[in-house]
Order: sequence, then structure tokens, then C-alpha cells
Amino acid sequence: MRRVRSRGLWVGYLLMVGVCLAAFGFYLTEARRLVGANYTAMVTDLVRAQEDPDRLRLVLDSLLDSPDRIHLAQLNELIWRIPLRIQGLRNHLLRSDLAPARYTPYLEELTYVESRLPTLEQVIARVGIDNQLTPEEGRQLRELGMELEEALAWSYSELNELLHRASADQRRFMGRLTLAVAVLLLMLLVAIGGVLLMLHRLHDQRETMRHLSLTDQLTGLNNRRRLLQEAGQAFVRGERQGTPLALLLLDLDHFKQINDAYGHPLGDEVLIRFARLLEACARRMDVVARMGGEEFAILMPDSDIAAARRLAERILHAVRDMPLPSRAHAAGLTVSIGVAEAGENGDFERLYAQADRRLYRAKAQGRDRAEG
Ligand code: GH3
Ligand code: MG
Ligand code: MG
Repeated sequence: MRRVRSRGLWVGYLLMVGVCLAAFGFYLTEARRLVGANYTAMVTDLVRAQEDPDRLRLVLDSLLDSPDRIHLAQLNELIWRIPLRIQGLRNHLLRSDLAPARYTPYLEELTYVESRLPTLEQVIARVGIDNQLTPEEGRQLRELGMELEEALAWSYSELNELLHRASADQRRFMGRLTLAVAVLLLMLLVAIGGVLLMLHRLHDQRETMRHLSLTDQLTGLNNRRRLLQEAGQAFVRGERQGTPLALLLLDLDHFKQINDAYGHPLGDEVLIRFARLLEACARRMDVVARMGGEEFAILMPDSDIAAARRLAERILHAVRDMPLPSRAHAAGLTVSIGVAEAGENGDFERLYAQADRRLYRAKAQGRDRAEG
């Protein structure tokens, strides 16, 4: 049960690690996409706009060579398109996170270009009347064209440079931000893992303490406290289900003599062997306990006095045959047993007292026997 719960805890933790990694991956992809997206549209528009100054020069040259309707129409189209492009770029720039101070000079230059376009329009309107170019109109067109072409080319190229620098800055910033997020995430996972590990250890320690507080240190059997706990529950269960409950109290005979003859450590060894023997004789559902010293008890749920007597007899025989540590080979070991069954409306104290009286009787009647 304990293992299952702690495994669940770790599975939960691994799931959390998975979710964190997935979230981080999502963040990384989105961040990369957004970093580029900010400037990609603007750069695309700018690259298209950069064709306008060259085109302006070409169209004007053709118009100066032959001021016909086709070239006039091409120039008119360009005069209509240039402000649209400038407006598009202006909108992009105003919406971007670039500091206005960085692009204002270029926007002002483009605004100047826009303000000069009506003059260009007026000149070609005059030319369009008869498709003839006077020398004065030719000079005006050449000068104005050159001025606008240079202003456009310079603004666009400076803006292009600015966008590339800003995009590189943004990428560097995102790189650092990603690293910081990754480190934070890692620290968070390590911290949570550490807390879980600590909880796991604490839980283990608590379980060990609980186990120790209910176990006899020498024999590993249940101790008196555990037997009392189990007896309380067995009484409740027995009363509810109407099943009998029996108790055996066991006390080794003349155990002091074994200690005196062979020493306390060997006495301990005998106690351990006797404990194993009791476990082997009892059923899984019986509660075998060391009550203290060389006194033991077996609580038998769902058993009447006849079953308890049978178990007592088995133990008496087994103890007589039990091999003792080699040095005590010659000494014989026997046990006296008091057997009792819980009466109706009885409690554990009464059951225990009755078994104890019978144990005393077994001792008094010569030991190596069961009474009850
Ligand atoms: P009786 O047949 O009347 O029960 O005689 P006994 O000698 O077994 O009874 P008594 O109560 O006089 O002595 C019990 C002895 O059990 C005394 C003590 O030294 C010994 N004993 C109690 N606890 C331990 C233990 O943990 N280890 C060892 N080796 N001996 C223990
Ligand atoms: Mg005793
Ligand atoms: Mg004894």
C-alpha cells in the first residue's frame, strides 16, 4: 500500500515533468514564430517599396525620351502607388515596438516625398495636355525626379538597416529569455523533486517508527501494545460477526536456569527460536506476540477453546522437540500454557485474566502442559 502510494507520487511527478517540457517546447516554438513575425511583414513591404526609386528613375528617363501616354500613365501609376507604400510602412512602424526616435527621421523624409508628389503630378498634367515636353518641364521633371528618387532610396535603405538591427536584437533577447525560462523551469523541477524526495523519506521514517513501536526488538514478533490493539479490533469484529475469540498465554518453564547455566545471550537465542516456532505453529490470521521476558501470547480470531487447545498441544510437542543452541543441547525446554475463550459481553481484560489464571494452574500442576 505504502509502495503503491509513493509510486503514484513519482508517476505524478514524472507527468508534471512531461507537462513542463511540453509547455516549454510550445513556448519555444511560439516565441520563435513571434520573434520573426513582428518584422517579417514589414521587411517584405519594405523590399517591395525599395523597387520604387529605381522604377521612378526608369519611367522618368523613358518619359524624357518620349513623352507619350504610356509613359505618362506609368508615372501616374507610380505617383499613386508611392504614397500607399509609405502609408503602409508608417502604419507598420507606428504599431511596432521600435522607439519612434529610431525611425522618425526616415518617416519625415518620406513625408517630404509625399508632399512633393503633387508638384510632380502638376508637371505631368501639363505634359499630358499635348504630350510635349518643354525644356523647362524637362528640367523640372529631371530635378524633381532625382530629388524624390534619392530621398526614397535613402529612407528605405536606412529603414531596412534599422529593421535588421532590431530583428537581431529581438532574437538575442529571446535567446536570453528562453535560457532564463529553461533555468527557472529546471530549478522548479529540482525543487519539487527535492520536496517529494524529502516527503518520501519522512513517510518511510514514520512508517519505520510506527513499525518499531509495535514490534518486539529481540524476536521481531508483535509487542504487547500491538496485541492490545489487535485484541480491541478482534473483539469488535467478533461481536459484530458472532464469531468466537481465543487466547493462549505461554510462559517458558525454568527459563532462568537456562540463562544462569548458559548465559543471557544464549537465553536470547532460545527466545528467538521459540518465537519462530510459535509463528510456524500459528495460522496467518493469529496474532503472535511477546508480552515481555519469556512470556508470549497468541490471539486467535474466529476460534473457540477447542481450536485453541489443539494449537496449545501442537506447541507443547513442538517445543519439546525444538533444537536448542549446541551448548544447551542437553537442557530440555518446555512451556506452560493457559488457554481461554472470550465469553459473551466479555472484554479482553477478563479473557486475559482467565488465561493467566490457567497458566498459573499449569505451572502449579507441574509445568509442560496446557490448562483451559
Ligand atoms: P517458571 O517456570 O516459574 O516460569 O520459571 P522461570 O525461571 O521461567 O521464571 P522467572 O520469572 O523466575 O524467570 C524468568 C527469567 O527470564 C528471568 C530473566 O532472567 C529471564 N529473562 C527475561 N527477559 C529476558 C530476555 O530478554 N533475555 C533473556 N536471555 N532472559 C530473559
Ligand atoms: Mg515468567
Ligand atoms: Mg517462566
